[in-house]
This record gives sequence, C-alpha cells and structure tokens, in this order.
Amino acid sequence: MTPPRLTVLAGPTAVGKGTVVQALRELHPELVVSVSATTRPPRPGEVDGVHYRFLSDDEFDELIASDGMLEWATVHGRHRYGTPRGPVEEALARGERVLLEIDLDGARQVRASMPQAQFVFLAPPSWDALVARLVGRGTEDEEERLRRLETAKIELAAEEEFDTTVINDDLDRTVSELAQVMGLE
Ligand code: 5GP
Repeated sequence: MTPPRLTVLAGPTAVGKGTVVQALRELHPELVVSVSATTRPPRPGEVDGVHYRFLSDDEFDELIASDGMLEWATVHGRHRYGTPRGPVEEALARGERVLLEIDLDGARQVRASMPQAQFVFLAPPSWDALVARLVGRGTEDEEERLRRLETAKIELAAEEEFDTTVINDDLDRTVSELAQVMGLE
C-alpha cells in the first residue's frame, strides 16, 4: 500500500520535533515541510518565511476569514499558530510529499478534514527526559515553562489517537524510523 502523501507529526512540547524535522528534510530534500503562520514574535535567529510566517493578529484573522488556514490553534494558551492552506494543497496536487509539524489541536482538525492523512506521534523516551529537554532549552522563562509542561501532560495522553508512535530517543534512529513510516526510504 502506498503511504499517504500528507503526514502530520505531533507530540508533546519540547519532544524535539523541530530537530527531527530538520534532520529529516536534510536527508530528504524532496519533502515539502509546511511553513506555519504564527502570531508569536520571532526568536533570535528565526527568519520570516523560513521558520514561520510571522503575522500580526489582524493578518492571522484575515487568513482564517478567507479560509486560508487548513487548521489553526492557540498553543500553550498564548499565541496562535496555523497551517496556510494554499502551499499544502498545491504541493499535494503536484504529487509531492508534505509534512506538517503541528500541535495536537491542529492534528485533530486535519484528521477531521483530511482523514486519509497519516498521523504520527513523536514521543519522548520518558517524562523525565521531556522535562530535562524543556528546562535545558532555556528559551522560555519560568512561567512559560510551567505552562508548556501542563500542555505536555495533556499532549502525552493523546498518543492513542495517532496511527503510529515514533520514540525520539536517538536522532539518527528516530529520523530513519520516521522516514520508513512515511515511505521515504
Ligand atoms: P514554538 O513556539 O516553540 O515554535 O512552537 C510551539 C508549538 O506550536 C509547537 O508545539 C508546534 O507543534 C506548534 N505549532 C507550530 N506550527 C503550528 C501550526 O501550524 N499549527 C498548529 N496547530 N500548531 C503549530
């Protein structure tokens, strides 16, 4: 059976989705990775149009109003993040493989509108490993970290909703398993 062309990768906060996706796209440059839109301000080094499309609240509202979002969610109770519909639909129409790295709410919306997609849950090796990563990253203040840990607990419980779980224990192994699950190698 041919694997679906659209893969949705979700998992708890700080599980390392970004690193895994970065390594996967280096191995498979043919893979189209959707650039999300967000109302969160850029972190140092983040480039508009590359890491995210950084939008104002009004611009984000306009995209939703024009049905330009495949899905969107407020993540960690704070900023909005969403998948611009156009680039995803165009890539799928060209027959390309597309990957969305989004949060759980977003994954549920995609499941409702595109049930034929493949849903992959990226899980930490353990809860302690997840906490260590979240603290170690050091990009968030204490309040934001606590907020993200609360979200992570809820997100971990959602694993059973997904088609497949890939454990993020060792980067090379994880990327190779993900590529295999997606039918990339
Ligand atoms: P960060 O602020 O650390 O870049 O991302 C925070 C969270 O937003 C991550 O867990 C990520 O999965 C989620 N996220 C990023 N882009 C999207 C998107 O387009 N849609 C949804 N629903 N969540 C997203």
